[in-house]
Amino acid sequence: MQIGIPRALSYYNFFPFWYGFFSDLGIEIVLSDATTKHTMTTGSSLVVPETCLPVKVYVGHILNLLDKGVDKIFVPSLQSIMPKIYNCSKIRGLPDLIRNVVKRKITIIEATLDKSEKNHGLYDFLSEIAAQFGITDFERIKKASKNAWRVYNNFQIMTRSGVPYKKALKSALENKVIIADNSKAYPINIGLIAHGYNLYDERVSMKIFDKLEKLDVKVYTAEQLTQEQMNEGLNSMKSRLYWANEFEITGAAAHYIQDRNIDGIITINAFGCGPDSLMLERISRFSRKNNKPILHLSIDEHTGEAGFVTRLEAFVDMLYRKKRSSILNKIKIKDRKEKYTDIQCKNLIQ
Ligand code: SF4
Repeated sequence: MQIGIPRALSYYNFFPFWYGFFSDLGIEIVLSDATTKHTMTTGSSLVVPETCLPVKVYVGHILNLLDKGVDKIFVPSLQSIMPKIYNCSKIRGLPDLIRNVVKRKITIIEATLDKSEKNHGLYDFLSEIAAQFGITDFERIKKASKNAWRVYNNFQIMTRSGVPYKKALKSALENKVIIADNSKAYPINIGLIAHGYNLYDERVSMKIFDKLEKLDVKVYTAEQLTQEQMNEGLNSMKSRLYWANEFEITGAAAHYIQDRNIDGIITINAFGCGPDSLMLERISRFSRKNNKPILHLSIDEHTGEAGFVTRLEAFVDMLYRKKRSSILNKIKIKDRKEKYTDIQCKNLIQ
């Protein structure tokens, strides 16, 4: 038994869970290859231009799996993962979208999770998936679910401690748990806010983590926060939970905006994303109110790396200047401009 999983969209949130689940059931997983320009181009060619980049990338990954000879592909419909909390229409209708745009022989392993209108439980969802492989023994499904949670929880422990995404994923799949070494101090700390698929797909995010590391910036993401911290963030913004990713976007942003150790916020959103445009507007207002610098980076398949890097560098440079000037003001150094160069000030901040 074999199942293809596209390395896109919910892969970046839930793959450790699916790995634990399918491997326990004896189902071999075939992943699509990492995103390339070709993935984006082929995916984009099948959908209307207004479609957001993550969905175009998802379609490209489906095509990649079909090219590899895998025609049984997992495409869940995640309608609502908590009562009265909804995913965007594209994620909800993903199996229908794929069926309509991919005109090739494909068997979609589809199941619906809807905790709002249909009050589905997780076992209903998992049983629906397993049944498509002829597995109906509930005890077997329950055991696979336990294994899935084990791998997923290990992954979460690692990302929460600050282990980089790729390393945490690799370790979780190898059944290991490692904890991050956070002893290195950085002059600048930023909160990076985006959906997992816009952050951890290196082609989509243009390796933003590496770029910020080169600029000597420590990055904090939603994965390092607990549900309670994100919930407090949401409450402090007096924001109501509606979209499935409000915790990771609005809640995490609000938390970092109020964190005095965080010097600035960077958000990445896909051009044309409805939910993000609403969430980002509220985040912008809240950051203005709290006097926290914020940079919004909008991406699509035409985004050029040069412009992306320039904006990132300019923002980080501004954070350095702001921090340096506040420190220099505090220690009241006369003639500071003559006495302190950028490098010295950077060391001063450290
Ligand atoms: S939430 Fe936004 S970026 Fe994500 S799939 Fe929906 S429209 Fe696209």
